[in-house]
Amino acid sequence: MSNYSQVIPIANKILKNYFLCDQCLGRLFSKQLHLSSNKLLGKKLKNIPDSKNKCYVCKNLFYNLDYFSKLMLSSSSNYVFKTYGVGVIIKPSIVDRDDFLRSKYKLKGIDSIKTDITKELIKLFSKKTHKEVDSIDPEITFTVNLKDESCELRSKSLTVSGRYVKSKRGYPQKQKSCDNCSGKGCRICNFHGISKFESVEGVISKFLFKKFGGTIAKFTWIGGEDKFSLVLGTGRPFFVKVKNPSKRKSVLLDEKFDFVSVHHLKLIHESPKKPLNFNSTVEIQISTVSQIDSKNLKILKTLTTTPIIIYEKSGKCYEKKIFDIKYRKKSKNLFTMIINVEGGFPIKRFVLGDGVLPNVSDLLNTPCSTHEFDFLDIRVE
Ligand SMILES: [Zn+2]
Ligand SMILES: [Zn+2]
Repeated sequence: MSNYSQVIPIANKILKNYFLCDQCLGRLFSKQLHLSSNKLLGKKLKNIPDSKNKCYVCKNLFYNLDYFSKLMLSSSSNYVFKTYGVGVIIKPSIVDRDDFLRSKYKLKGIDSIKTDITKELIKLFSKKTHKEVDSIDPEITFTVNLKDESCELRSKSLTVSGRYVKSKRGYPQKQKSCDNCSGKGCRICNFHGISKFESVEGVISKFLFKKFGGTIAKFTWIGGEDKFSLVLGTGRPFFVKVKNPSKRKSVLLDEKFDFVSVHHLKLIHESPKKPLNFNSTVEIQISTVSQIDSKNLKILKTLTTTPIIIYEKSGKCYEKKIFDIKYRKKSKNLFTMIINVEGGFPIKRFVLGDGVLPNVSDLLNTPCSTHEFDFLDIRVE
């Protein structure tokens, strides 16, 4: 361990050749002396008032840090947050001179100038705002660029889970991306990636943007439905990640909009990593070309005893299971079927017989089609 009198000769030797500001000089020795203020140590070691000379290492950057802490302040003025982190970008020539000095005088185990600038910015910013620094998982991350005097801010995304009920026909689940940027986010769409809000996705996104700010809302749906399908009961579960939110807390109550309502909204840690298994109860209106009678329909019950195989155009195939079937004849060429089936089941193709075996058309021996099918319930396992 060194003491103060031991470092004085080295400090003097350095100062003879290179003028250093208090902060840079102090940084070279503060760790070995176990001192926390580089500035005070530098001042003491120099024992002369700072002259008009420029610091060899930082070119007096340390005198200018207040300007950058103000940049941090103004760039975060619209954000509500508790914790933050800081990264800095400085000119490579500063780093080079810092490295050069350290190796020339064999100074080991000291903070780099980048680390010291970061520490100083944190001191200034925390003093001004009383926000807490968190280097592992901050809510807001500043990248302070001292090279071009700018400050970028990134806010950690947040995730909401919930369920939606769709009570009117004619609205798609997903929103078409902004024509200009194909969903990446641009000025035209206000960086949302969507410019219209006329789907389930659009309405929920708009609601969340109002609550949390943010740019892009990225949805994970537990299954999907046709534009003309209703989603009833407790609704369809979804997860949505809101990127770059400006607020992180909000009271989330059930909300009702024109054709969709949202329930069970909750802020959660993250969306599930793996696809969730789920079952749906679907009511399907089926019309037939030939006339049907209730006796014929009985054969539909066999669908619960065999796996349904779905053949994709790619050559792949997969199985789904129907757990339960109910049916009711409505007229000569129309009946209703209610099935409880594994999630991700292609309803229309199953009725038509398009690459699905067994299927309704084959079983009833007449071409069948569906114009409407509604989700009565969706259960996640
Ligand atoms: Zn300096
Ligand atoms: Zn756009």
